[in-house]
Order: sequence, then C-alpha cells, then structure tokens
Amino acid sequence: MSKIKNKRRLSIKAQLFIAMLAITLVFLVLTWTFQFAFLNIIYRVVKENSIERAAQDVQEENGYGNVNEFLSKITDRYDVSISAFHFDDDGIYEVVHFGEFSISSENNDALMEAWHQSVLESDNGIYIASSSGGELIYVTLLNETPSTQCLVVINTVSTPPRGTVLAIRAMLLLLSIVLIVAAVIIAYFLSKNISRPIETMSNKAKNLTLFDYDVTFNDKKGPKEIRELASALNSATNELKKLNSTQKELIANISHDLRTPLTMISGYSEVMRDFPDERSPENMQVIIDETARLNSLVNDLLTVSKLQSGTQIMDLKTISITKCIDDTVKRYEKLLEHKNYTINFESDCEVFVVADETRLLQVVYNLINNAINYTGDDKAVTVKQEIIGGVVRISVIDTGEGISEENLPLIWDRYYKVDKVHKRAILGTGLGLSIVKNILLLHGSRFGVSSEVGKGSTFWFEFKIEKKQDT
Ligand code: ADP
Repeated sequence: MSKIKNKRRLSIKAQLFIAMLAITLVFLVLTWTFQFAFLNIIYRVVKENSIERAAQDVQEENGYGNVNEFLSKITDRYDVSISAFHFDDDGIYEVVHFGEFSISSENNDALMEAWHQSVLESDNGIYIASSSGGELIYVTLLNETPSTQCLVVINTVSTPPRGTVLAIRAMLLLLSIVLIVAAVIIAYFLSKNISRPIETMSNKAKNLTLFDYDVTFNDKKGPKEIRELASALNSATNELKKLNSTQKELIANISHDLRTPLTMISGYSEVMRDFPDERSPENMQVIIDETARLNSLVNDLLTVSKLQSGTQIMDLKTISITKCIDDTVKRYEKLLEHKNYTINFESDCEVFVVADETRLLQVVYNLINNAINYTGDDKAVTVKQEIIGGVVRISVIDTGEGISEENLPLIWDRYYKVDKVHKRAILGTGLGLSIVKNILLLHGSRFGVSSEVGKGSTFWFEFKIEKKQDT
C-alpha cells in the first residue's frame, strides 16, 4: 500500500528568505572563524616572509653606496625595524637605527659578538636569532665597502597589533550587519519579482477551472521563465477557448442533424397514423430514408470518435487501390446516371498498397461524395491515379467554387463548415473530411488539398506502392 506523503512546502518567498539568510550566515561564520583562528597564523607567515626577504636583500647588497638610504628603504619596503653595527678594535658601536623596535648595542656586546659569529657560520649568511614568541630577529652582514662590513639586525613583531585586531573585528561586525540587511532586502525584491507574478498567475488559472476563458496572463513583465510560463498559459487558455466553442458548435450541429430526420420521421408517422389515406409507399420511403440518414450520421459519429480515441483496429492487407477506386467510381456512375454527372477515373496501371480496405473505401467515398456535392455546373469530377517514385497519389478533382486559403486548414476539423449556415450536404454528414484525415493519419499517409476559389479543388492522398501491374 502506498503511503501518500503530505509534505507541507514553504512558499517561494519564505524559501528565498531562508536561502539568502543561510548564505549570509555561512559567509559570516566563515569570516569570523578565519578571523579568530587564522589571523595570527596568517599575520605571522606574512611577517616571516617579509623579514626573510629583507634579510636576503641586505645580505645580497653589494652597492657600496649610501648605507643609511639603503637600510631606510628596506625598512619601509618590508615594514621591519633595522639596526646596523660596526666593529673595530674598541668593540661594537651602532651606526644607524630604523623603525620602532630597533635593538641597541648598549650592554649587548657579547650578544652581538655571538650573533656575528653565528652569521659567519651560517650557510646562507643569515642567522635567525629569534623566531618563536612574539618577536622575529634575523641577523646578517652588509657589505659597506669592498673591505668593510656591518652587522645588520632586522626585527619585527609576529603577532598582529591589538589595535589592528580590534579594527578588523569592528569592521567585521559592521560588515555582518550590512550583509544581513542586504540579504533581507535582496530576498524581498527577488521574492517580489518571482513569487508575486506566480501568485497572480495561479489565482487567474483558478478561473479557468470555472470555465472563465477570458483571463490573460501578463507575458511582458518579470523574469524570462515567468514570461514563458505566462505565454504558455495564454496559449493553453486560447486552446481551451477554441475547444469550448468547437464543443458547443459540435453539440449544436449534431442536435440539429439528429432533430431534422427525427422530426420528419415522427411527422410522417403521425400523419399516417391519423390519416389512413396517407399510408402510401412514398411516405413510408421518406421514413425509411430519414432512418437511413440517422443511421449513417450515428455511424459516422461513432467512426470519428473511434478513430480519434485510437480504439479503431486496422485490418491491414495488400489490396488493389486501383480496383477499389474503380469499383467506387462505377457505383457512383450508376447512382448519378440520371443526374448528368460525369465521373472519370484515370489510371495507367494497377497498383497494390497495404491498407485497411473498408477504411480506404471510406476515404475514397467521402472525397468523391464531396466532389459531387461541391462541383460546378459542368457536373464533372475526375479521379486520377499517378505514380510518383515509390508512391501512388490519388487525386479527386472537381470544378466547383473552391475553398478560400484561410479555410483550407480548417476543413479537416470535425463538423467544420465553410459557410457557417449549417445546410445539409446531399449525401454527406458533415464529418467526412474528419474521417478521411483520421483514417489517412492511421495509415501514415501524406494527404492535402489545393484549391482555387471559382475554379475548383483537388483533394489528394498518397500510399506507398507494394507492387504494380500493367493493365
Ligand atoms: P460536409 O458533409 O459538410 O461536406 P466534410 O467534412 O466532408 O463535411 O467537409 C467539410 C467542409 O469542407 C464542407 O462543409 C465544405 O465547406 C468544404 N469542402 C469539402 N470538400 C469540398 C470540395 N470538394 N469543394 C469545396 N468545398 C469543400
């Protein structure tokens, strides 16, 4: 047994707010964590890097120029403090001091000696006198002249000054407030832009379920997806509107068509019941004819609905399309013998196709029927069989009024009539072309119509040739 989950989903507005706040919070947590956990480490790495590069620059200097100017530049460039010392026979004495934390040589002779010694013993000419705690001290020698050197002590603090830390925290706090406010504002505008139009659309769409097809969705404003959704809903509404009016028209037409023969049948029956003299074979024939008309209308309606619902089973066989048409034409010739109609069938060989014979006959019957109903004063109808490559094309040509270009695509619709005055065709039921279209679609055939107003129409369809035989 499947369990239906009834999850309560949050609105887009709420989801956007939560998402924006979550992103901001993650960002803030990361920033604060970095500030607390890594500020000291990063500061120290930067400082170590600076002092090392300062020591290298001093150690590699061979300019024999102005020592003061050089050391002052190094102090500024790497943000370090520098003290330089000279050696002579009297001992060690200071040359210059740069920066805040310079070391004095006073009482430090022994230490200086030791550092000097350590520099001389080091591999790269740089001695790291202190690297732990809060202070970094690097010692190296600077070539002053080709024959004289001075001891340079570079030092700096490796922990960020308290003032800087406090300033960073204050900035972070300010940034956090600005970010949260910005997130709320962005979420508000985003939700306004996205969720409002969706809410409006959903309210309007509810009207559709109440058969109000006059609603329109605004497809000019809002994000691209919303505009696309609105335009899809507009098309759906138009289709529903069309479907609704076709449905109404269809019911009106069917009722009209059923009522006419029924009125005739009941009228004639009553007359014959009340007036025995009227019980003539002619009057009986009217009832029989009208019953047949009713029968064919109901049959056609059933055929269309079966074809459209896909429940029609096709009995496909290889049949002679040429013979099929020839027989139908001959039957018509007999039927219309006394009405001066001429129906010609032009074919130069017998062609076999795979088709459901009964349905194919229905197609031919309907097209010829229409051609007879709508042909011109010459009362001529031509049926033509042509072979184009591997297919056979059957054309039914009349010389009637033709069909205007705007009506051409519509005539295949169920119950569509070019003149909206619903006059009954001589033999048709008003469903003919819809049946033709559905049968040909089921066979996968190509079909169409070309027509010129005042000159006539040519309805055609094609079948793949199975085999052909010269007649
Ligand atoms: P009907 O029973 O009204 O002929 P159809 O479905 O067979 O119904 O045809 C639909 C409409 O197409 C007709 O009402 C008519 O307006 C138009 N039509 C069909 N065939 C022809 C034709 N050969 N010449 C002119 N108009 C035609």
